[in-house]
Amino acid sequence: MRQKKFILSEKDIPTQWYNIQAEMPNKPLPPLNPSTKQPMSVEDLAHIFNRECSKQELDQENKWIDIPGEVLEKYTYYRSTPLVRAYALEEALDTPAHIYFKNESTNPLGSHKVNSAIPQCYYCKQEGVTNVTTETGAGQWGAALSYAAKLYGLEAAVYQVKITMQQKPYRSIIMRTFGATVEGSPSMSTRAGKNIITADPHHLGSLGTAISEAIELAVNTPGCKYTLGSVLSHVALHQTVIGLETEKQMEMAGEYPDKIIACFGGGSNFGGIAFPFMRHIFDGTHKDTEFIAAEPNSCPKLTRGKFEYDFGDEAGYTPLLPMFTLGHDFKPANIHAGGLRYHGAGTIISQLIKDGYMHGVDIPQLETFAAGLIFAQSEGIIPAPESCHAIAATIREAKKAKIEGKSPVILFNLSGHGLIDMPSYNSYINGDLTNYTVSDEQIEEFLAGVPKV
Ligand SMILES: *Cc1c(COP(=O)(O)O)cnc(C)c1O
Repeated sequence: MRQKKFILSEKDIPTQWYNIQAEMPNKPLPPLNPSTKQPMSVEDLAHIFNRECSKQELDQENKWIDIPGEVLEKYTYYRSTPLVRAYALEEALDTPAHIYFKNESTNPLGSHKVNSAIPQCYYCKQEGVTNVTTETGAGQWGAALSYAAKLYGLEAAVYQVKITMQQKPYRSIIMRTFGATVEGSPSMSTRAGKNIITADPHHLGSLGTAISEAIELAVNTPGCKYTLGSVLSHVALHQTVIGLETEKQMEMAGEYPDKIIACFGGGSNFGGIAFPFMRHIFDGTHKDTEFIAAEPNSCPKLTRGKFEYDFGDEAGYTPLLPMFTLGHDFKPANIHAGGLRYHGAGTIISQLIKDGYMHGVDIPQLETFAAGLIFAQSEGIIPAPESCHAIAATIREAKKAKIEGKSPVILFNLSGHGLIDMPSYNSYINGDLTNYTVSDEQIEEFLAGVPKV
């Protein structure tokens, strides 16, 4: 019988994360202090984040970083995750391509986010922190953080983007089930939120507004640290557990991927699956692997953004980060892939794009849901609207393979399931969804707000 799933035993879960910064030929530029424009130190970052993550953020020397034993133990609650050969999807597409997906939707919270929530809360606990705050878009990060905070006895306060709170009411209930408090952003409970609402009373919120509010709360509350579920380098570092497992599982399958695909919000699930394989570009053992990041065409920072120092949030509280950006006050259309409505790409990814190691593709909303339905109806898993972008990009490659008569090995990351996102499928099936595009003029307008460095 042909093998469908490749599964590692618990003892084969990686014990170290891979720090790609140590091996990049051109290192990412440093984050800058917005007032002095000087590179930020670990000390500076540790005002906002826990110290260990601040260290990891700037670490360009250590290629491997040990996963603490207590974090590994928590990983075993839901890891390893299966690598799956998508035979049914291949048959549905009638493609000669071999398609594999890493299934990060199997944990009870439903996405890859928990891989970083656990270590972030663990380090906070070690350092005597009592409270954590964060933002969440679609709610997967908020759910993961609420659970991880509870594991370590921390109080969690989550600002959730207002529009997704309305679209996905169950996620805030999940967060509250784990004991977190949840507030819609922009809210009236912070200065940043009040300013945003005063300027635009109908603001639907974005990751940028919610980050501003969460940071404001963190810096004004003793014993409180801010946590972030994407974009930053330490988050992508924690996610490399995905790719390191996959590497062993592809070996079990006896193949090596020609193309590696993930959806792209801030870059954590993409980095998680891609970075461990990219090290074989650096060491010359697999030079031809193609890395593809799939973004919404309504929020096209990789394909149409500009490489600039910009803020990570709407109010300008974060360090200035060198990244492909659409401008920190970019207002993304109200698409259902809430986790991909973010204006910038992480600093590592931005440098890798600049250096030609990977590229982005942008995909219209209707194509992503069409892909989600094909996948659901063949493989039996309803993917998160975010993950549908990776599936749509995979389907494009599989169709190309058929036309070219080639059989590439395509690997994609299934970053999460869509079972809490069913209203978006309902809208799609009812024919109520549309595509959104942004004009060059709109992008230019938002890019004009990028600070001068
Ligand atoms: C948050 C999220 C994303 C986007 O975030 P990245 O940091 O780009 O990975 C993608 N898929 C799911 C399921 C998510 O929850």
